This record gives sequence, C-alpha cells and structure tokens, in this order.
Amino acid sequence: MAWDFSTEPDFQKKLDWMKDFVRTEVFPLETLDLDWDQLRKAIAPLQEEVKANDLWAAHLDPELGGQGYGQVKLGLMQEILGSTPYGPLVFGCQAPDSGNCEILAAVGTDEQRKRWLEPLLAGEYYSSFALTEPDNAGADPTNLTTTAVRDGDEWVLNGHKWFISNAATADFMIVVAVTDPDAERHRRTSQFIIPIDAPGLDVVRDIGSVENPRPRPYTYGSHCEVVLRDVRVDDSALLGNRGDGFLIAQKRLGPGRIHHCMRWIGQASRAFDMMCERATYRYAHGSVLADKQTVRNFIADSAAEIQALRLMTLHAAWRIDEEGTAAARKDIALIKFFGAKILHDVIDRALQVHGSLGYSADLPLESMYRAARAARLYDGPDEVHRDSVARQYLKGYSRPADDRPTEHIPTRRAAAQRRFADLLAEQP
Ligand SMILES: Cc1cc2nc3c(=O)[nH]c(=O)nc-3n(C[C@H](O)[C@H](O)[C@H](O)COP(=O)(O)OP(=O)(O)OC[C@H]3O[C@@H](n4cnc5c(N)ncnc54)[C@H](O)[C@@H]3O)c2cc1C
Repeated sequence: MAWDFSTEPDFQKKLDWMKDFVRTEVFPLETLDLDWDQLRKAIAPLQEEVKANDLWAAHLDPELGGQGYGQVKLGLMQEILGSTPYGPLVFGCQAPDSGNCEILAAVGTDEQRKRWLEPLLAGEYYSSFALTEPDNAGADPTNLTTTAVRDGDEWVLNGHKWFISNAATADFMIVVAVTDPDAERHRRTSQFIIPIDAPGLDVVRDIGSVENPRPRPYTYGSHCEVVLRDVRVDDSALLGNRGDGFLIAQKRLGPGRIHHCMRWIGQASRAFDMMCERATYRYAHGSVLADKQTVRNFIADSAAEIQALRLMTLHAAWRIDEEGTAAARKDIALIKFFGAKILHDVIDRALQVHGSLGYSADLPLESMYRAARAARLYDGPDEVHRDSVARQYLKGYSRPADDRPTEHIPTRRAAAQRRFADLLAEQP
C-alpha cells in the first residue's frame, strides 16, 4: 500500500537551501521601498543564483526550462516562497506570470511561444491577466462584456477591466473578451495577447486597496484599472481557439490554487513563529504571555489549523499528480476557502499577541493581515467555492424513499426487528 508522507532526501536538500536563501537574501528586500526598476536590479543576481541551482520556473515542464516537478513538490516549494511577497518573483514562479506561462505553453502557437513565452520564462518580460470587469460580477465570468469584434483581418477590442494585477509593470496582457455573444455561455469568450503599449490600451490607474491604500506608481504588486478603446490586433494575438476563453481560464486556476494555499501556509507559519517568539518574553499580570491559557489556545489552534490546511493542500496536489486537475476539483475548492480563513485567523492571533506592536508597521503582521483579506476574493470568492464543494458533495446523495431519513431509528428498528425476529423471540 502506497501511503507516504516523507520527502525524498535530495529534494529535501533543495527545500533546505531554498529556505535559507529566502530568509537570508529575500526577506531583507521586504523592508525597502523599491520601485519596479530598483526591485528588478536587486533581484537579478538572486534570480541567477536560483537558475544556477536548477530551481528557476520549476512549475514548467523540462522542455520549457522548468523542472517538471509535480504539484506536491511545487507545493512544498511555494510554502517556502510564499513566506515573503518577493519569494515567487525571485524563483520565476509568481502569479499571474506562472499561470500565463502555463496557458501559453499549453495552447500558444509556435510564434506566440517564441514572442511571449520565451522572454517571460527568461524573466525578461512580465505579464498580467485581464478577466475581471468593474461593471460585471467577476464571480461569474460568463457575464463579461468586453468585446472583440472582427473587422477585416483584425479584431477590435473594447471594454473596461479592473483589479488587473501587475498591469502597471507588465510588458503584455492576456485579455478575455466576448467574441461569440450568441454562443452557449461558456463558449462566448476568447483570449488575446495584447502588448502593453498597444494603441488604445490604457492602464488608467493603480487602484488603492485594503492591501495598499495609496499605491506608489510603477511598483510591483499593482492592481490596475484598464480601458481598451478600439485596440486592434490580428489573428496572431488570439490565444487558443476562438470560444475557448473560459476553458483556458479554468485551466490556469487549478494548480494555481494549490500554489496560493501553500504560499498562505508559508505566511501563516511566519505569523505563527512571530506569535510564539513574542509569547516567550512579553510579561504581563505576573507571567509571560506563553503562560496564559488564551495565548496557549491561540498557539495550539493555529498549529492544528496550519497542519490541517497543509495536509489538505498536499493531498489535493497529490490528487492532481495522480489523477489530474478535474478529479481534484472538490479538493481544490475546499482548500481555497478553508485556506483563506486559516491564513486570516493565524495572522489575526499573532497580531493580537503583539498588541500595539502587532498593529504597527514596525512588524510585517499588519501588511500580512491586510494582504490576507484579499485571499477570500481573488481566484473566486469564498462563497463560490463553498457552493461548488456543497454541490459536488450533494451529487452523492438522493432523496430517500418515503422522504424518511435513512437513519430514522423507528424505521430501522422495525426492519431490525423483522430481521432478528427469531433471536428476539428467544428472549425471555
Ligand atoms: C488582490 C486581488 C487581485 C486580483 N487580481 C486579478 C487579476 O490579476 N486579474 C483579474 O482578472 N482579476 C483579478 N482580481 C479580481 C477577482 O478575481 C475578483 O474580485 C473576484 O473574482 C470577484 O469578482 P468581483 O470583485 O466582481 O465580485 P462579485 O462577483 O461582484 O462578488 C461579490 C460578492 O458577491 C458574493 N457572491 C458572488 N457570487 C456568489 C454566489 N454564487 N453565491 C454566494 N455569494 C456570491 C460574494 O460574497 C462575493 O464576494 C483580483 C482581486 C483581488 C482582490
């Protein structure tokens, strides 16, 4: 029976190297206020070191320069990288570029791979993915109204997108637009690769948010409002088949959600470490916080929740490796909303244990806390994942005969009495 929780020793060595490298080389960058050009300069030598250690863009297949690791290994790596906002960037597997690489590799033409995928993989280009619109519910992407209309040999795109991550620093954008308004609702859209300097493509602003209320222009981690006004492209911009926009969008989300959850575990574990460290020496009402039952409960609950999320996420990753993304749909939806809650709750407790210091910007907890809130929204709000999980579980159930619960004790007792009538007759 194959049932194994161990990590291969050779791979564990890589994880150990990554952990040390991320703490020593990447954590310090968090404390600096760098614009995109400064950040790229700072991380360039680190990216070279990652490449030299064969850990660059590990999410991709070997023929594309990746390592061909399955989702379990990638998950374990993301746990380390997610502990700091720049970790994935230094290792060439940051969202949304990693997902964009995957779809370019899966459905891009040779020409598209050469023009967009190769520089993306080399870390020369960066990208964004534009699906969500301010005037339509992003939770239901079949409602999109951005259009791509055929005009001679060209497509003309018009629409309004927002919360497009990294659009302020991207070299190109993959845009989802309606090409076939009369088709079945999952077949109405297609995807287009648009250079960021295409005439008519306007990155209007970097939207202030809970995570970053007053964003500085041209910094990593923007979430932008984007307007497309008569943006003209030819067929070489169409990514995949016409009408496949929704299908391709779904494709990039499955493994991506594993990576999100593992990165959240990295964040939650970092908050957990801070909480435990503080508890050892902060003294109040006659003892250190570590001696207070509430704080001990915080620690125990957080440890249990992180462990539960980790096992659930690695199990979902294992399932993708063994049976494919479609088979793991329920597991992926489960971890997405469960993970977002654990991430929030653990950071919240760590912040509480630090009191005013936790609330201050002198510790990373306050920014982690603000960033964590978004996890309940991006890649689909919690409610949609809960709904999907419940629907999938409910498929395994049907209405009982006579509308009586299967477990109804009087009914079961009557049946048991009939079955064991002889035995019961023997009783005095
Ligand atoms: C930090 C961040 C980064 C993002 N990056 C990108 C990006 O790079 N590209 C991109 O295209 N988009 C991006 N998004 C957008 C994100 O995908 C959407 O916010 C998300 O899909 C929800 O869409 P919406 O904001 O339009 O909310 P809506 O669809 O309007 O949903 C609002 C609320 O309605 C409720 N709701 C919706 N559907 C249901 C349901 N079926 N049952 C019960 N309740 C429901 C939920 O409470 C939900 O939160 C990002 C968002 C954030 C916060």
